[in-house]
Amino acid sequence: MRDATKNWIVRQLTLGEFSSRRAVVSRAVWMAAKIAMLAYGMNICAHLGLVSLGLLPYDLWPALVIATVLTPPVSFMVAVVAYSVVGFAVYDLAVSRAEFERISRIDMLSGLLNRRAFQRAFNDAGGDASLVLFDIDRFKAINDTFGHSVGDDVIAAVADVIRAGFTQDEVCARIGGEEFAVLWSSARVESIAERVEQVRERVAALEIPCGAKRVSVTISGGIADLPHGRSFNEIFSEADRALYVAKASGRDRIVRHRDIDSLANGEIVMPKALVLSAGARLAG
Ligand code: GH3
Ligand code: MG
Ligand code: MG
Repeated sequence: MRDATKNWIVRQLTLGEFSSRRAVVSRAVWMAAKIAMLAYGMNICAHLGLVSLGLLPYDLWPALVIATVLTPPVSFMVAVVAYSVVGFAVYDLAVSRAEFERISRIDMLSGLLNRRAFQRAFNDAGGDASLVLFDIDRFKAINDTFGHSVGDDVIAAVADVIRAGFTQDEVCARIGGEEFAVLWSSARVESIAERVEQVRERVAALEIPCGAKRVSVTISGGIADLPHGRSFNEIFSEADRALYVAKASGRDRIVRHRDIDSLANGEIVMPKALVLSAGARLAG
C-alpha cells in the first residue's frame, strides 16, 4: 500500500494524470463523483444494517430521503475541493520539477545541452553513436582583445550556427568553455561529415558585432566515427585526438580520426589528404 501510494505520487510528479490545470479539474470531478456514489451507497447500507439489527433510532424512510438529498452533493463538493487542492499542488510541483530538470540539462549561455546531459544522451544511444568535437580557434585572444562579454557573444553565435547545422535527431551540446560536441547515430556518417564541414564554413563567414567593429572566428573539429559500441571515453578521446590534429595542422579545419595515418614517437604524422578542409583565416 505504501509502495503503491509512493509510486502514484512519483507518477503524478512526472505530469501523469495532472498534465494541465484542466486535467486536474476534470480528474477531481470524476473522482468526486465516484466518492459521492460510494458515500451514498455506504450511507444506505449502514441504514439498512441498523434496521435489520433493530438499532435505527428514527424512521427509515425520512432518513433515506435526507441521506439521498444530502450525502451525494455534500460528499461530492468536499471531494472536489480536497482533490483539486491536492491536484493543483501536485501539478505546480510537477511543472517546477520539469523546469528544474530542463535547466539542469541546458547550458545557459548557448542554449545547447550541457556536458552532463550530453553524456546521458550518449549512454541512451547505447554506444551506437558518433561524435564531433568543435573548438573555437584562438579564443583566448578574443577574450583578451575584445573582453569577456564579446567572448560570450562569440560562443553564443557559434552555438547558433551549430544548432542550425544539425537536425533534431542529432544532439548538440556545449561541453566546455569554447568547446562543443555533436552526437549522431552511426547510420548517417557520410552526410554528417558534409554538414560538419558546412558548419565550419558558416562559422568562418560569421561577423559578430563588437561596437563599431566586427569579430571573425574560426573553429576546428575532430570526428570520431565507426563507434562499434565503444565507451563514451574511448570515442571522446578519438574525437579529441582528431581535434588535436586539426589544431596542430593549422586550425580552421575538420579532421576525421579514421584518417589519421600514424603516430610515430609521440609525433603526429599528417599527410595532407587526411584533412577535409583547410581555411585560410585565423581568428584573433
Ligand atoms: P586553441 O585554438 O588552441 O583552442 O586556443 P584557445 O585560445 O581557443 O584555447 P584556450 O584553451 O587556451 O582558451 C580557451 C579560453 O576560453 C580560456 C578561457 O578564459 C575562455 N573561456 C572559457 N569559458 C568561457 C566563457 O564562458 N566565456 C568566455 N568569454 N570565455 C571563456
Ligand atoms: Mg578549448
Ligand atoms: Mg579553443
